[in-house]
Amino acid sequence: MSLIVQKYGGSSVADAESIKRVAKRIVETRKAGNEVVVVVSAMGDTTDELVDLANQVTPLAAGRELDMLLTAGERISMALLAMAIKSLGQEARSYTGSQAGLITDAKHGSARIVDVSPTRVRAALDAGAIAIVAGFQGFNRGTGDITTLGRGGSDTTAVALAAALNADVCEIYTDVDGVFTADPRVVPAARKIDRITSEEMLELAAAGAKVLYIRAVEYARRHGVTLHVRSSFNNNEGTLVVNPKDGESVEEPIISGVASDLSEAKITIVGVPDVPGKAAQIFTIVASTDANIDMIVQNVSTAATGLTDISFTLPKSDGGTVLKALEDNKAVAGFDSLQYDDQIGKLALVGAGMRTNAGVSAKLFTALFEAGINIEMISTSEIRISVVTRADTINEAVRVVHSAFGLDGDEEAQVYGGTGR
Ligand code: ADP
Ligand code: ASP
Ligand code: MG
Repeated sequence: MSLIVQKYGGSSVADAESIKRVAKRIVETRKAGNEVVVVVSAMGDTTDELVDLANQVTPLAAGRELDMLLTAGERISMALLAMAIKSLGQEARSYTGSQAGLITDAKHGSARIVDVSPTRVRAALDAGAIAIVAGFQGFNRGTGDITTLGRGGSDTTAVALAAALNADVCEIYTDVDGVFTADPRVVPAARKIDRITSEEMLELAAAGAKVLYIRAVEYARRHGVTLHVRSSFNNNEGTLVVNPKDGESVEEPIISGVASDLSEAKITIVGVPDVPGKAAQIFTIVASTDANIDMIVQNVSTAATGLTDISFTLPKSDGGTVLKALEDNKAVAGFDSLQYDDQIGKLALVGAGMRTNAGVSAKLFTALFEAGINIEMISTSEIRISVVTRADTINEAVRVVHSAFGLDGDEEAQVYGGTGR
């Protein structure tokens, strides 16, 4: 008997009909002789709608109460899904994250899983039932409070349960056929990838390919969980995310995909004295806010003034806090002024074969130049090149780069549901 963890995203359970459709699929998996644990997200765009609602009540919604509100979304879908399964004659029991033993740290809004003890889930399986678990939520023992794992966090719930229960596979069901060479909503010519290494998937997820949440990919890699991304709307094969063992050779495409991200902003610190220790001082201030900064660029200083500019990117959601921390320490840090730009887009080209292939950067920059798209920042890793452009050119940038690297397929990529929000 296999143990299968299946995660259904919001787009797969958007309404009552979809919940019934998904329930049938789950029952079929159970009837085929498998033990089944299901992780479910909130219906459709429920989480976004709850965030909007909170923002109407107060612009500063955050922390404990926001998590309390958002976790309600998954409670609705888990209970409805369990009811739908029972109505098909199969036993099902739903559990909140805390009932399922998902223990996290206390960081509201982006809690990390510290322990998983799915005793009740195991007991439900032993009793022959299907266990349904609310995604994206956990419980902190110290505070006794409910936490959320960050947007897209149901993927992490599924992987964490798969690891703790020693599942054979963790299937992520969504509204596209798998992981594509680019977001099918942006690039209709995107091609489905049959197998991708977790290393490449991590880079794509980090760069904004939200089909898998980065922390879920990290967790799966660390615990050796096999991820299988599939559409809940058909029986197509999907994408396997594989963890090649040390020394095992895999065929590595030069480029596996292009991703983009519009959730970041750029802060430029103008007039920084070009003396040793300044960068350390400034980024210590930034670090004190806990913001996740990404690209950093320091310009050459002007000989006449000995002053330089430093720019970096960070999530828009951290923009206000970081600007305030810098402003509060302006006198100590000794810079002139701050500029904030939230109209940037980031594009990343990912591929393990890049390691051994010269000329990838040149080809990328040429493709953008020929499309008249200006590059504002550049950063690279062993298997990724990222550039920052204006936000309104980002989709065009993704399409021309996808095409320049020969990734365009012959068929139009299908999107079966969801609003893309
Ligand atoms: P779910 O509701 O199932 O969690 P998400 O909206 O989180 O679904 O993720 C699926 C979406 O991810 C797709 O509809 C697609 O628009 C987007 N996406 C972005 N990049 C990619 C990619 N490289 N491959 C597939 N989908 C992608
Ligand atoms: N419902 C949560 C969100 O929309 C978690 C998830 O769907 O993975 O972010
Ligand atoms: Mg998702």
